[in-house]
Amino acid sequence: MNARARRKNEIILLIRRVGRTTRPIIGSILSISPPTVSSIVRDLRKEKWVVADGYKESVGGRRAALFKLNPKLAYSIGVEMSLSTIASVLIDLEGRILARHTATTEVSDNWPRMRDRLLSTVETVLSAAKGGKVAGICLGISGIIDKQNKVLKKFPQFESWVDLPVGRLLKEKFGLNVLLENNVTAAALAELKYGRGREVSDFLYLHMGKAIGLGIVINGEVYRGATGAAGELGHIIIDPDGPICYCGNYGCLESLASPLALVRQPIGAIEKGVESKISSKVKGKLSKVTIKHIFEAAAESDRLASNIVEKAGEYIGLAAANLGNLFNPQMFVLGGILAGDGGVPLETISRIFYSRVLPSLRDTTRIEVSEITGRPCPLGAATLVYEEMFERLKGAEEASEVMPQSPPLSRRRKKK
Ligand SMILES: [Zn+2]
Repeated sequence: MNARARRKNEIILLIRRVGRTTRPIIGSILSISPPTVSSIVRDLRKEKWVVADGYKESVGGRRAALFKLNPKLAYSIGVEMSLSTIASVLIDLEGRILARHTATTEVSDNWPRMRDRLLSTVETVLSAAKGGKVAGICLGISGIIDKQNKVLKKFPQFESWVDLPVGRLLKEKFGLNVLLENNVTAAALAELKYGRGREVSDFLYLHMGKAIGLGIVINGEVYRGATGAAGELGHIIIDPDGPICYCGNYGCLESLASPLALVRQPIGAIEKGVESKISSKVKGKLSKVTIKHIFEAAAESDRLASNIVEKAGEYIGLAAANLGNLFNPQMFVLGGILAGDGGVPLETISRIFYSRVLPSLRDTTRIEVSEITGRPCPLGAATLVYEEMFERLKGAEEASEVMPQSPPLSRRRKKK
């Protein structure tokens, strides 16, 4: 790469880092002469990397023109495939969600059906790009993934979902660059870029959904572990004498505090004769009990439901206290269907956390509920496509090679 191409990449990366900036600032940070900055910025505007964005206020003198990266440079698609959901979003470079689609029915272990649903949810949001450039698709997925080969090695609870070439499937269907990421790690990335995580450098995203998982952010970067499997919080053992978990161990957090575990508890108790509003909510058909019935009954001060929900909060608080001692985060961000109003009470999680964590950490650790509207995973996954794209500019690739292309329409229309 020649010196000018390298300078170009440096300028793009600088604007990506600082947001809006001026030619003089670019020149002084990167030690480039004003004529060279002007000429490269002119090229970048022509190539649609950069757009003008108003003027910087100045006291006397000339106001300097501000530039930022073109938000419409290329769109990005993020998809979530977890035990509960197939959902996708189309975003622009500034993280604005331009389209979203969530498959309405439950995820089942019927892979051909889920595969079709996965493709159709991507297709729906892709159509909102209206033929514009798309940088790629990132699939945030539960379970064990092989990122290199873009293969889903193992999906939780569904025995038959083994070695599924999900990356190739999406690539062949849409002709776009495809990435795979753990779904909770992708959600943590969304919190880091657009959510509560913007306020701090070190935080833990505690996902309380059908599965329980942990997203780890250390010093402003997500931590994935040696093979990308860090954060399997659902399978830390909280009570060795507790119920058996689908992973084969006894007393995992997920066997005690996941929706499935919570739904199991009142059924046994009611069958033994315990009175509860849960029973009347399902007209005595206990097989119909869902997590919603338990939370509703708890909100109506039903004793059994309140105890179940309270106990789940205690287990999660206990897990958080252990994590607090281990990671010393500034913040826990709680997300997923069990988090927030009408879910597992934040008061209980906080009470147990602050009574069990080391006293020296009490004053410096906050517990907050996620403020991201909708699901954070697809948003974080879509962001990851951009992260990867800009990362390539740090290597030997020129901006023109990294610039995304329009999706090949003919291939998109082709039957799978
Ligand atoms: Zn387990």
